[in-house]
Amino acid sequence: MRIDRVDVIHTAIPLKSSFRTSFGAISAQHSVVTKVYSEGLVAYGEACPFLAPIYSYECVGSVQTVLGSFIIPSVLGKEIDGAGDFMEKVSFIKGNNHAKAALESAIWGLQAKAEKRPLWQVLGGTNPKVDVGVSIGMQPSTSALLKKIEGYLNEGYRRIKIKIEPGEDLELIKTVRKEFPDIVFMVDANSSYKPTDIDFLKKLDDFNLLMIEQPLGEDDIVDHAGLQKEVKTPICLDESIHTVDDARKAIQLGSCRIINIKYGRVGGLLNSIRIHDLCKKAGVGNWIGGMIETGIGQVIKTALGTLDNFVYAADIETSDRFVVEDVISPDLSQTNGYLDANIEYEVDEEKLNKYTAEISIYKA
Ligand SMILES: [Mg+2]
Repeated sequence: MRIDRVDVIHTAIPLKSSFRTSFGAISAQHSVVTKVYSEGLVAYGEACPFLAPIYSYECVGSVQTVLGSFIIPSVLGKEIDGAGDFMEKVSFIKGNNHAKAALESAIWGLQAKAEKRPLWQVLGGTNPKVDVGVSIGMQPSTSALLKKIEGYLNEGYRRIKIKIEPGEDLELIKTVRKEFPDIVFMVDANSSYKPTDIDFLKKLDDFNLLMIEQPLGEDDIVDHAGLQKEVKTPICLDESIHTVDDARKAIQLGSCRIINIKYGRVGGLLNSIRIHDLCKKAGVGNWIGGMIETGIGQVIKTALGTLDNFVYAADIETSDRFVVEDVISPDLSQTNGYLDANIEYEVDEEKLNKYTAEISIYKA
């Protein structure tokens, strides 16, 4: 496929209410959507690293710069033979995985359109029905959290995840478990604990948690290996896994039993598939993580979630979850805790324009 034109669109959509994690609060959904034109076909991609570099060193501004100055000039007007060729052409760029994923995800979309097959089949998925869970940000009170959990369970979500940090952890977990003894329940610490907290983290073994996500350093795989030896609950790595090699090393060290795959964090869908395949071989389970993408990214995540080693429910946010309005039509919605990867949707250009904060157009 020849890349004829790329639009880089910074979208800013207000959230219904702010989302608090141990990094701080977020009040709008900021994303970088790419619209890629190739020989009469158009496909969208997305990267969602957050407005500020609070999740990784990347942010909306760095993605825009790296796309505009380095990635797009490497492929514009050129013939690209799929995602593998694209990744080769931009391999001189160190890191900047979200920026690469913004365009790489659109290239898969172009391939799907050219082959007239759904994206999930092109990616190698096996079951279009994807289990979906819910990730709940920190709430002002425990009663507010319990109310939220109850609401999401009533909506059919298949797994509940809450955010924890030192001081807002044990009592919260105890209360949730007491209130909902049978739910599939996990916690995400977003790197807020230290290796010296091992004795504390061992206490979480009493609550039948599905997993503890990223308790230690965001760049660590060594301390997590020490922790996983001490705790019975599976450790899941998120922030620490940026590359296929990171996953290989984490598996080799025994740093985790589960890896959360965010296609933006690992540089796109091809690397996601490679990490998925590696984990499958090693008996390490996967699930799809989220960065609160627009509907465009959520549909891409749903397609990826159809691969067979995604054995845990995904963090895929439906259109009514966070944003006041989504940019796809119809809205992405779940039924009984499942999403269907065969969803037929269109990007709503009017809404996309409405929430465009900045656009840069690159033509061959
Ligand atoms: Mg996480």
